[in-house]
Amino acid sequence: MEKKAKIYIAGHRGMVGSAIHRKLQALGYDNLLLRTSGELDLRNQQAVADFFAAEQPEYVFLAAAKVGGIWANNTLRADFLYENLAIQNNVIHQAYVQGVKKLMFLGSSCIYPKLAPQPIKEEYLLTGLLEPTNEPYAIAKIAGIKLCEAYHDQYGCNFISVMPTNLYGYRDNYHPEHSHVLPALIRRFHEAKTANQPVVTVWGSGTPRREFLFADDLADACVFLMENYDNPSLINIGMGEDLSIKELAMLVKSVVGYEGELVFDRSKPDGTPRKLMDVSKLHKLGWRHTTPLEAGIRMVYDDFVANCANQ
Ligand code: GDP
Repeated sequence: MEKKAKIYIAGHRGMVGSAIHRKLQALGYDNLLLRTSGELDLRNQQAVADFFAAEQPEYVFLAAAKVGGIWANNTLRADFLYENLAIQNNVIHQAYVQGVKKLMFLGSSCIYPKLAPQPIKEEYLLTGLLEPTNEPYAIAKIAGIKLCEAYHDQYGCNFISVMPTNLYGYRDNYHPEHSHVLPALIRRFHEAKTANQPVVTVWGSGTPRREFLFADDLADACVFLMENYDNPSLINIGMGEDLSIKELAMLVKSVVGYEGELVFDRSKPDGTPRKLMDVSKLHKLGWRHTTPLEAGIRMVYDDFVANCANQ
């Protein structure tokens, strides 16, 4: 990607898109094409067609999506399936119509079978049943991967798909019910510390295992792959280590400085028992993450206290 290339970041105000935006700016890319969802509704087919025809982006990072944690995924099932299919269909198709040089589609580790062997290799896609709590989101993302592959196979488009593990970072969603586990725990421990509450509730049994990557590391990997990976087969992005939800809760508790007790609410779903990415393909290309989990949690907690705690 030349420094003057016209690069469209779809979803630049979200956690992932804003990290990609920061990364590209830091590297000196200054011809970035950005639209808020108020300016361009990516679910609107005609609006997306008009935008691509008028702006003619050369590169596209497709980081726009309807996202959320286990509760949001499980209850807003129609919205997650419909909105994500609409966004990705519109953007990927118009990238083909307008001859975009390269597009990157961002997926998720939930596309893999619920009981996939661990760590999860890229070739395990579509080898088993999905986790029911996020099946609609996963089906949309699988359709996006297959759409990129199909445009490559039929029309020779350079459309690639990357599968990030669970993420956390700046501009995360701290909604008490709809967020992912890490921001949810940051908020809950912080509020319990501030209000001197003796107990904090953690959903599920605490035994599921998850891997967490800092969104700025993900953005670094995305730019690296945009420069160095031209294969329609999907590629995982992660850090290669996981921990249990209980261990994560203990870590967040210590970063926040909360001194009370934890209780587990087993009426809430556990989801997939384990989701650890096999990142050997990415490592062989020469990319590794740089932010250790505890350091990353400290950075986002400081940001939460400064910018989000009172919202
Ligand atoms: P998942 O990776 O798609 O399951 O996404 P989440 O980040 O929403 O949940 C990960 C795990 O953390 C699940 O086992 C949840 O039950 C557990 N968990 C514990 N406390 C919370 C919480 O407050 N919010 C969320 N979203 N998950 C929680």
